[in-house]
Amino acid sequence: MREILHIQGGQCGNQIGSKFWEVICDEHGVDPTGRYKGDGSSDNQLERINVYYNEASGGRYVPRAVLMDLEPGTMDSIRSGPYGQIFRPDNFVFGQSGAGNNWAKGHYTEGAELIDAVLDVVRKEAENCDCLQGFQVCHSLGGGTGSGMGTLLISKIREEYPDRMMMTFSVFPSPKVSDTVVEPYNATLSVHQLVENADECMVLDNEALYDICFRTLKLSTPSFGDLNHLISATMSGVTCCLRFPGQLNSDLRKLAVNLIPFPRLHFFMVGFAPLTSRGSQQYISLTVPELTQQMWDSKNMMCAADPRHGRYLTASAMFRGKMSTKEVDEQMINVQNKNSSYFVEWIPNNVKSSVCDIPPMGLKMASTFVGNSTSIQEMFRRVSEQFTAMFRRKAFLHWYTGEGMDEMEFTEAESNMNDLVAEYQQYQDATAEDEGEYEEEGMEENYEA
Ligand code: GDP
Repeated sequence: MREILHIQGGQCGNQIGSKFWEVICDEHGVDPTGRYKGDGSSDNQLERINVYYNEASGGRYVPRAVLMDLEPGTMDSIRSGPYGQIFRPDNFVFGQSGAGNNWAKGHYTEGAELIDAVLDVVRKEAENCDCLQGFQVCHSLGGGTGSGMGTLLISKIREEYPDRMMMTFSVFPSPKVSDTVVEPYNATLSVHQLVENADECMVLDNEALYDICFRTLKLSTPSFGDLNHLISATMSGVTCCLRFPGQLNSDLRKLAVNLIPFPRLHFFMVGFAPLTSRGSQQYISLTVPELTQQMWDSKNMMCAADPRHGRYLTASAMFRGKMSTKEVDEQMINVQNKNSSYFVEWIPNNVKSSVCDIPPMGLKMASTFVGNSTSIQEMFRRVSEQFTAMFRRKAFLHWYTGEGMDEMEFTEAESNMNDLVAEYQQYQDATAEDEGEYEEEGMEENYEA
């Protein structure tokens, strides 16, 4: 068995993390007390259940999940919510101080005090595994706890488990959804960490989630609940290959090998089709060509960047439901042939697809898209501009230096993110001939010498 250990931190991380568990419990036939109530849909529900669940005495399934926060509120409401009893009580680790949307408090002061308690629980869970494949962390980058303490935990785990995979579901901030001005600081400091210490990051951009709710789903005042509905559908889709039997991307490392041609470029755009608002799924039914067309559409991307402004280095698609694999393959080839200029030609066969016959709850068919697109630089540029506008005048810096942080770390984080943008641009512009020309020049030099 190749187990995954799930960690959720901060308000947003705990909110999206517990939604994720509600959704996958449903898909695997596990009820809120942890009992398998097998809806008879298929044996597949249990075949790989150990990837995400521990089996406790009495045949109960317990999420392999650690919940952390610097204040008790969000975790209290999870505990008293519909699936509150399914989690292992020892795995709730929380403080009382709060992080006040300050990355420095999460990373260096308040968070650093609580981190050993979290690591103890992580270690206990890891020791219980037969062969741990890696970790997944749910957090926001705009606040203090999920962002600052989340990235502290990621770096500690990297230190202790250097050969295990680290995947994150990272929620990027948008002024459309939030009114805390320092979010670009917190996000940039976090990206600096994620570039170095995470293997694969699923980007969930509140700006795009808000736009999908407002423009496509016609919700006039989208709430976090509405945004999180999109997130949990996406998380279920992304992890589908890991949770159900199948060949493609069946573990965290295979997913990474297929999607990451250069180690720093591991921030993925994710898309989902069909888009639905809470409670409306049952009315929507799409064909394979429709799913394929929507899944590639920028309007279905959970990241506010237009793939047509860049090129795909790699991409993977997971279709779910009863459908013809042949039709899926044909449709996918079709998209690539019609849009070949949007795929770098120097990575042949850079799009993979698979079919899992268990659809998400309430839908007959769905598809999830994970793409490594150079256009994601648009989102990093957005955050970087917001960062630089404030940092130029050193606005709000005292909140961070007051926790002992050095201004230097801001400068380094800023340039690391700008470098990342430049790297995406470099590969966007690269053509198949570049390297050839370079080699020829080299040969000429040799001849001259
Ligand atoms: P923390 O508790 O210190 O980690 O702080 P938060 O998680 O509240 O971080 C604030 C950032 O997360 C802001 O960008 C918010 O817009 C975003 N956020 C907070 N809660 C949610 C949520 O439930 N869903 C989504 N999508 N974003 C959230």
